[in-house]
Amino acid sequence: MAKNPIVRDILKRYRQVWALNHSMALMGWDTETHMPEGGATPRGMASGQLAMMVQKATVELDGMVRKAEKARDMDDMEKGVVRVLRRGLDFSLKIPPEMVDELQRVTTEATVVWRTARKKSDFKLFRPHLEKIVKLERKVAEKLGYEKHPYNALLNMFEEGFTVRDADAVYSKLIPASRKLVDKVMAAGVYPEKHPLETAKYETEAVERVNQGVVGILKMPGDRFRMDVSTHPFSVRIASDDVRITTRYEGVNFKGSLFSTIHECGHALYELGIDEKLAYTPLGDGASYGVHESQSRFLENVVGRSREFTKLLDPMLRKNLPFVDGYDDEQLYRYFNTVKRSFIRVEADELTYNFHTALRYEIEKKVIAGDIEVSELPSLWNDTFEEYLGMRPKNDAEGVLQDVHWSGGSFGYFATYTLGNVVAGMIWHKMKDGAFVREALQRGDVMEVREWLRSNIHRYGSTYAPKALQMKVFGEAYNPDRFLQYLTQKYTS
Ligand code: MG
Repeated sequence: MAKNPIVRDILKRYRQVWALNHSMALMGWDTETHMPEGGATPRGMASGQLAMMVQKATVELDGMVRKAEKARDMDDMEKGVVRVLRRGLDFSLKIPPEMVDELQRVTTEATVVWRTARKKSDFKLFRPHLEKIVKLERKVAEKLGYEKHPYNALLNMFEEGFTVRDADAVYSKLIPASRKLVDKVMAAGVYPEKHPLETAKYETEAVERVNQGVVGILKMPGDRFRMDVSTHPFSVRIASDDVRITTRYEGVNFKGSLFSTIHECGHALYELGIDEKLAYTPLGDGASYGVHESQSRFLENVVGRSREFTKLLDPMLRKNLPFVDGYDDEQLYRYFNTVKRSFIRVEADELTYNFHTALRYEIEKKVIAGDIEVSELPSLWNDTFEEYLGMRPKNDAEGVLQDVHWSGGSFGYFATYTLGNVVAGMIWHKMKDGAFVREALQRGDVMEVREWLRSNIHRYGSTYAPKALQMKVFGEAYNPDRFLQYLTQKYTS
């Protein structure tokens, strides 16, 4: 518990916010997993009411937080509490309720229209809605305030302290180097573009058993963790000892389900590893979207898609999936690591993924600054895509309309996916260029890797801002060279 009496009072009062968030998290989980369709309207109503109660209860903390901001001699945890609450208050105090309400209405409608527009591959349908959203997002940036670039205000909502300057530094290294690397890897042909197992059909029950086996290999704690099914896999922390994930079953190409499961376990381990003393406080959450994604990418790609992990999976795959017969571990490994240029971000591999987010980042930056109009997005999308990947989307559905994010008003989000890769690369580097992971997995010792992540990253929750956390752990922040080293070692050696 906090020593500072003001922070102690804040934390006592904060329990109300915590309880409301707890309820909303559980309701959100239920919405995606078990709720019958008819529950949608009342669930939306109840969530809206609870969100308003959270905002009200948070704003009521402003006076105490203000007092705490003047206090001296606070420890890192106490400073973290004040910092995180100030971030929440900033939004609540600067963005008027009418604007929050308008955003909510506009994006709810836009999401419905976006679904139809994508189905018909017709950007014109979506365009007037996106214009409204962009206008609102520009207003949000103005209200929040920013230095140098309005997009900084939006980036900061998803990744504290992350700016256009930081993103430009990351992408200007990552993109040219990735282009060369992809050319080289594809020319070498060791990692195939296609694999016969991609068309192998499976029984859901069989892959369910595989996923349960993975949960076992990763030693997910059965009394604090559960796994269900949803269309779009996610992980959610209901409480410090109640963390849940979902996975998906498509009936074909089992690696989709397998790596979704491992990815979400990476997110879940972060939440499960947060220090018990941060439960019920504003710090009982990951440091940022980027750092959170680094945990899932690290587990999915660095651990999950390695030769060593393939070997750990081997007996379970052979027991449950008869069609893997005839493929040795090296072939399974190559199936897990196909490399190809593709139009759809969510299907992209490790080597090509960052082109997709770079494209969205460049477009968002320009449209928020008013350098381009919404009507220019499809052509700018296709031109930039061609520049990065050497091919041109045939229609809007496989181009500018593919993601749900913009219809929901999530401008500033996409870069955090790449930050996940970048920070995962930094972890790999810190683990003796991956030797630590390889050796642990060769011994079948996943706990050693988990323990490293817990003691260096997980336990702090959001005590430190993402850059400060990285400086503490790595002595550097968002350095893309490490991820490039990782890719080079994995794919070219
Ligand atoms: Mg994720």
